[in-house]
Order: sequence, then structure tokens, then C-alpha cells
Amino acid sequence: MTDPIALLLYLVPLALVLFFYLRRHSKNEQQHVSQLEETVKSGLTEPASLHPVFDPNHCLGSGACVKACPEGAIGIIKGKGHLIKPAVCIGHGACMASCPHDAITLVFGTTKRGVDIPQVNPNFETNVPGIFIAGELGGMGLIRKAVEQGRQVIESVRKRKGGNSALDVVIVGAGPAGLAASLGALEHKLKFVTIEQEGSLGGTVYHYPRNKLVMTAPMQLPILGKVKMSEISKESLIEFWQGVVKKTSLKINFNERMETITKNGHGFNVKTSRGAYNAGAVLLAIGRRGTPRKLEVPGEELPKVVYRLVDPEQYGQQHVLVVGGGDSALEAALAIADEPGTTVTLSYRGDAFGRVKEKNRQRLQEAEKKGRVKVLLRSNVKKIEPNKVTLDLTGKLMEIKNDAIIVSVGGVLPTPFLKEIGIMVETKYGTA
Ligand SMILES: Cc1cc2nc3c(=O)[nH]c(=O)nc-3n(C[C@H](O)[C@H](O)[C@H](O)COP(=O)(O)OP(=O)(O)OC[C@H]3O[C@@H](n4cnc5c(N)ncnc54)[C@H](O)[C@@H]3O)c2cc1C
Ligand code: SF4
Repeated sequence: MTDPIALLLYLVPLALVLFFYLRRHSKNEQQHVSQLEETVKSGLTEPASLHPVFDPNHCLGSGACVKACPEGAIGIIKGKGHLIKPAVCIGHGACMASCPHDAITLVFGTTKRGVDIPQVNPNFETNVPGIFIAGELGGMGLIRKAVEQGRQVIESVRKRKGGNSALDVVIVGAGPAGLAASLGALEHKLKFVTIEQEGSLGGTVYHYPRNKLVMTAPMQLPILGKVKMSEISKESLIEFWQGVVKKTSLKINFNERMETITKNGHGFNVKTSRGAYNAGAVLLAIGRRGTPRKLEVPGEELPKVVYRLVDPEQYGQQHVLVVGGGDSALEAALAIADEPGTTVTLSYRGDAFGRVKEKNRQRLQEAEKKGRVKVLLRSNVKKIEPNKVTLDLTGKLMEIKNDAIIVSVGGVLPTPFLKEIGIMVETKYGTA
């Protein structure tokens, strides 16, 4: 007969392990439920583009995806995976790769919100022969993929025959895709130019929050070969790329924006903000963040108007106007208000900050109460002058002192431009 004392010796530790496991499990689940509630409350329920969907029939709630997601976007609720923070999902698919039960699929858009995906063939050439797309514009949000696609496009461009254009290819954009393509073009001695509308290298990566940990994987860069990196700070990654550009003497035309592309015999004429190029092929490595939307008001061309907050410190002792009603506008206004001697006004045309994170809304309310930020709802900028700005508050004009303006009213996506040049674009509503 089994000795009851020996049985107890086995059962008690087992019961304790089970008890602590279930307690931790339920604590985690409570946190995931609260996070999902906060997401719904703040209206941030729609992912930007590519994101996971969970098949409840296959998901056994192992939690492998929760651990694998570097953005903390996933939780387990009632034993099944859920996207509890859709707005932070960047679609790199680490969750899908980690799932031991194949319960995750990556899809573009949702039933409510379609996402435009340009059609490309396996060589990344669009239905307009000679125009290629690499990187995030094609739908895949991952640095390593953008680099690989940029590299492969140049292999395809090399194989193209004929044409007597001055250049083999114009590369538009100096993010990960454009940079890899430019290195490939340099390696193969192609005649090319790379243009970048901003004054900085690295595309979207350059604008990540300070010290963000970038999750990536070893990648093959032309000229340099295999580059081993997995987790790296944003600053170190940008520094690495700047070093590559210097070492290879790669020329990038910064502050030059591609404006139109027209067919020209066997090739294309690419008109930019600074001139025009004739090329046999064009690579669009322009990402998906779009071009900042403008206010289209007199005086907007003044140098004091910018479309992104880079360094709040530079605004110390100044009268600053922030325009916009999203998280980035609120965060910019709050960051500048923290600088000594600033007078910050936040102008938004809407009735309320409906689509921002709850935390930002609360921080803004506190800052407003303390008089650190003045909020002007239902207001529109009418005119910008060197030392002042005129706003329209539901029909009443108001002038305020002003030294600097940060416009944060979203971006213009390139879909109409793609359609205009004949590239077929498919809108996906929650499909792969
Ligand atoms: C907050 C955040 C965190 C992320 N974290 C990660 C991560 O940890 N790991 C990861 O792998 N990926 C991450 N990603 C995704 C990754 O940054 C993108 O997938 C990647 O940058 C895409 O590269 P790209 O070259 O296609 O486009 P982009 O990096 O967007 O570069 C496009 C470039 O084209 C330029 N451009 C656009 N239009 C024009 C024009 N008309 N003329 C001239 N130039 C133009 C733009 O100025 C820009 O410099 C993250 C994304 C975000 C937003
Ligand atoms: S795709 Fe990436 S960011 Fe999105 S949930 Fe999966 S692992 Fe997280």
C-alpha cells in the first residue's frame, strides 16, 4: 500500500507549483484584459497594416507569441491569443514564427479599414515594367526584409536589357530598402542617383523614439556582405549606416524630393524638387509613412515651420504653436512645455482629442490645468508671419505671438501617386 506521508511529500509541492502557476496566469490575464479595455476606450483598435489574427480553433494559449512580440502587442485572454495593443504592431511576424500550433496568420488591414498594397511580381517589379517597389511600401514592415528587397531589385535592374537613358536607375528613398539598393548599384557599377526628401539617412528608423531597441536579424548588405546584428539601439543602427555611407563614398542627394514620374521612350523621366533625371528603371523605396501633410496657408514656407519635433530643448524661452490632434501632436506640445520659459499653444480643428492614448489625454489635461499648455479646440491656422500667427476660432480671428510652429497633422500616403503612374493597387480588408 502507498505510504500516505510519501504521497503527501509528492503532492504538496506539485499542488504548490500548480497554485503559483495558476495565480501568475490569472494575474497576467487580468493585465491583458485591462490593456484591451484601455485600447478600446482610447479608440486605438485598428492596426496600421500587417498584423496577426489568431485562429481560436488552433490556439492553445501557449503564450509563445506574447514572449516573442518585442512590442508587447499580444496578450492571452480566456486561453487564446489576442492583439491587445493593435496600434503598436509593426507586422514583423515574430509572433507567427513563434507559434507552435500554426494558429497565427498575418493579414493586411481589417474589415473596417482597408490597406492599399501595390501589386508586384516576385522580382519586385510592378505592372509598369521598369518601376520597382521595395520595402514597406510593398506591405512588409521589417528592416531586414526592406534591405533584402532593395538588394534583389538591383539584381533585377542589372538583368534588364536595352534603353539608352542617361541612368540605369533612380532610387527614391534612403531608408533601409533604398540604402541597400544604392549599395547594390554601387557594387555593380550601375549609373544611378539616390534621392531622399529629408536631410537624414535611415528613413523611418531615424524617427524612432530616442534609444528605441531595434529588433532585427543578420542581413546581407551589398559590398559589406553578411552583417550580424539582432538587437541594436536606434542610434547605433543609424551610426552604423552613416559609417557605411562614408566608407563606401555612397552619394545620396538629401533634401531632394521625387515629384513625378513619366514614361519617356524606353525609360522614365523622374522630376524632383531640384531637377529631372532620365533612367531606364525607377525604384520606389519610399516607405508608407507618407509625406507630412501641410497646412496650405500663407507663410508656411517660413523656416520656423517644421513637421516633426526633433529636439524640444531648442525651443526653450520661445512661443511655440503645435498644430494637430493626434498622439504625436500632444507628445510634442507636452515635451516642449517641459522646457524652461516656453509658452505652448496646441491648436486642433476637432471638438475633442478622440483618437489619442488615454495617458496622453490625461497628461495634457494636467498640463492645461497648470497653465503649461494652452489648448485651442475648433481652431484653424489662417496666416503665419515671422513673429506671430493668426488662427480662426469658429469664425473669430485671433493673433498670437509666435517663434516656432510644429505641424503634426498626419501624412499624405502615396496611393494616388502610384495609381496615377499606372501601378495597380489592391485594397486588402483583413486578408493575407
Ligand atoms: C515605431 C516603429 C518601430 C519599428 N521597429 C522595428 C523594429 O524593431 N524592427 C524592424 O525590423 N522594423 C521595425 N519597424 C519597421 C521598419 O522601420 C520599416 O519596415 C522600415 O524602415 C521600412 O524601410 P523602407 O526603406 O521601406 O522605408 P522607410 O524607412 O520608411 O524609408 C523611406 C524613405 O523614403 C523617403 N521618401 C518618401 N517619399 C519620398 C519622395 N517623394 N522623394 C524622396 N524621398 C522620399 C522618406 O523620407 C524615407 O526616408 C518599426 C516601425 C516603426 C514605425
Ligand atoms: S507582427 Fe510583430 S509587432 Fe505585431 S504582434 Fe506579431 S510580433 Fe508583435
